[in-house]
Amino acid sequence: MKTYEYDVIVIGGGPSGLAAATKLAEKGYSVGLVERKEELGGILDQCIHDGFGTKIFKKTLSGLEFSAFFIQKVHSSNIETHLNTYVKDMRIDKNKKEILTISPEGVKKIKAKAIVYALGCRERHQFEIKIGGTRPAGVYTAGMVQRLVNLYGILPGKNILIVGGGDVGMIVARHLHLEGAESILIVFPEERFAGLPRNVQQCVLDFKIPYRPRTIVKEIVGKERVEGAILAKVDEKWQPIPGTDEFYPCDTIVLSVGLIPYSRKLKNIGAEIDPKTKGPVVNEFFETTVDGTFAVGNLVQIFDYVDDAVESAFMAAEGVEKYLNAEPKGERIELTPGKSIRTLTPHVIEWKDERNIVAFFRPGLEKENVYVELRDEKGTLLKRYFRRYIRPSTLERIEIPREILKGTKKVVLDVGES
Ligand SMILES: Cc1cc2nc3c(=O)[nH]c(=O)nc-3n(C[C@H](O)[C@H](O)[C@H](O)COP(=O)(O)OP(=O)(O)OC[C@H]3O[C@@H](n4cnc5c(N)ncnc54)[C@H](O)[C@@H]3O)c2cc1C
Repeated sequence: MKTYEYDVIVIGGGPSGLAAATKLAEKGYSVGLVERKEELGGILDQCIHDGFGTKIFKKTLSGLEFSAFFIQKVHSSNIETHLNTYVKDMRIDKNKKEILTISPEGVKKIKAKAIVYALGCRERHQFEIKIGGTRPAGVYTAGMVQRLVNLYGILPGKNILIVGGGDVGMIVARHLHLEGAESILIVFPEERFAGLPRNVQQCVLDFKIPYRPRTIVKEIVGKERVEGAILAKVDEKWQPIPGTDEFYPCDTIVLSVGLIPYSRKLKNIGAEIDPKTKGPVVNEFFETTVDGTFAVGNLVQIFDYVDDAVESAFMAAEGVEKYLNAEPKGERIELTPGKSIRTLTPHVIEWKDERNIVAFFRPGLEKENVYVELRDEKGTLLKRYFRRYIRPSTLERIEIPREILKGTKKVVLDVGES
């Protein structure tokens, strides 16, 4: 068995893994980058639409253009890439970081002083949203359809029902329309599309793609191939309204019903997992609860913008540097979501540092003209952030100045009363 040794191993060659690896190489560390697919780029290699890089590059790029920037950086650095390489086993604790991988060249052992996980996420499937009925061919996830259409030029069907009104569902609807689908209907249980207004306009309204809010798929119908679906109207609690069942004929069902971080590997090494994000518990430099083990990008939480996923990777690179320099940690401060906040990262602040803390939160409600407030354990207001409009489908970013946290052990972020 061949053995490799680096300062840092980065697992996952998507945008956040690429960003972490290139930043660490720039800092002078030896880096090994492990990717299970035969190409770098992660989910972006199938994203031919634009809308990437608006924050980092101040212009809107396609997913491929965005990842090309980082892939070129990898190739012009001394990062050693291991493609077609799947991480099978890990021996990771405070003192030892070792992974066993499988690749066409055989089993490899890779050792490092620190490790960055950038595994991304998976798509939720039909059983996770309790769709009943038969199991015929013709049911796909949106990511799979995007791959078939954009990379292999295969249209998966002609009459298509898309389940889910988020950004991914809308983007896939537009692609299928442009590629020649005969009919498309988008259904979703919310009152309004959950995705960005820009995508509602550019992907759905501009192409007059039909959609039905407050509608779910109760059952899939078909023996060999999808023949249709039983749709039902739902109330505001997403409960089916009796008597509204309707058969909708189609040959393909595309599910775009959410993404879940690939956190099992971290759980297996004893990292604490946040039941809300389904990703690992992390500190402000994206270190998990296993010392010297970092997690970035969609593995931590689902980032709406790749730019924010990349920012998490840059911060993790700073954290790796602190860890490798054996910098001491400071006072531990817990960062907790209040009752109107669905998710909040980081979970804890623990390093001595001067820089502002970058935090990401997903609201638990929809509201206009609100203040999101940061309070200490006694309820004293530390800082307010104004937002014109918040809603659960939009991840928000805030910066917390370190000096306002002095002397606190726990801070709570919540939507203010007024
Ligand atoms: C359809 C769609 C449209 C989007 N549109 C936009 C947009 O317009 N603008 C925007 O800013 N963002 C957009 N995003 C979001 C953006 O793509 C993500 O934020 C970003 O891809 C997250 O990067 P990542 O590196 O964390 O994960 P990924 O890109 O998923 O990369 C993870 C990598 O890890 C690898 N991996 C997983 N497990 C292993 C293992 N065991 N061993 C080795 N390698 C492994 C995977 O193969 C993959 O390459 C979109 C996302 C989707 C799905």
